[in-house]
Amino acid sequence: MNFRQRLAQFMYGRNGYDAFSQFLLLCCVALLVLGMLFSRVPVLAMLFQLAEWAALIYCVFRTFSRNVVRRQQENAWYYQKRQRFLNWCRSLKDRWQQRKDYKFFRCPSCHALLRVPRGKGKLLLTCRKCGNRFERKS
Ligand SMILES: [Zn+2]
Repeated sequence: MNFRQRLAQFMYGRNGYDAFSQFLLLCCVALLVLGMLFSRVPVLAMLFQLAEWAALIYCVFRTFSRNVVRRQQENAWYYQKRQRFLNWCRSLKDRWQQRKDYKFFRCPSCHALLRVPRGKGKLLLTCRKCGNRFERKS
């Protein structure tokens, strides 16, 4: 039996390397760089190193774990958070591109984002999500 077959046999029934593990490894690299940048502040450098080791150990644990169902749940949770973050980034980008034509407001009661055309004076806005009415200058 060669090395590849042994490795495949060893990894059988284990979670393996998934997107969340990849993210954890990326965090390790980021923490390593931060630790180097703050090497003159021993307390911070030690904290970054501790966090780096924790992320690395968790990544290795996840990769070799036999509790695949739990690890897949964690991976799904990660994908959900990642998607929310990407949507937020896209929303920021859209708002930046439309900033000259529209003004954006948050509903005071439900925090939904409202978009109104600029230069229309004082407007009475009605939230589409909760129906709350409030006045803003556009
Ligand atoms: Zn609202």
